Amino acid sequence: MPTGVYTTNIRRGRPTTNTFENLENVLKSKTYIDPVSDCWIWEGAKNKKGYGHTRIEYIYYTVSRLSAFLYLGLDLADRDTHALHKCPNKACWNPSHLYLGTNNDNWRDRKEGSEVTNLTREHKEED
Ligand SMILES: [Zn+2]
Repeated sequence: MPTGVYTTNIRRGRPTTNTFENLENVLKSKTYIDPVSDCWIWEGAKNKKGYGHTRIEYIYYTVSRLSAFLYLGLDLADRDTHALHKCPNKACWNPSHLYLGTNNDNWRDRKEGSEVTNLTREHKEED
């Protein structure tokens, strides 16, 4: 058996090359900038709610939260402060489309479980 191949196969998990040092490049490498809305649309992985997310070192963060950390001074350890969207695009991480707030400020979370309904209604109004 070729040694090199065998060694590769028995590796347990691949360490992520994403670090806080190259965070900006990690985000930009998987992003499409919408020329109309100026949304910075994450084209990488998304979480169950449709928000873009990625792993930095060992932990998954939403890309909007990472953007707020980079550009808006968000403390990533502060779980009560959220990066909220001004635009309807959940995968967007343009810092000028984000603002910091608590859960109470977030209209999407105001009624628990009504997120999908609210979004659907919003989209219909826009059409
Ligand atoms: Zn946006």
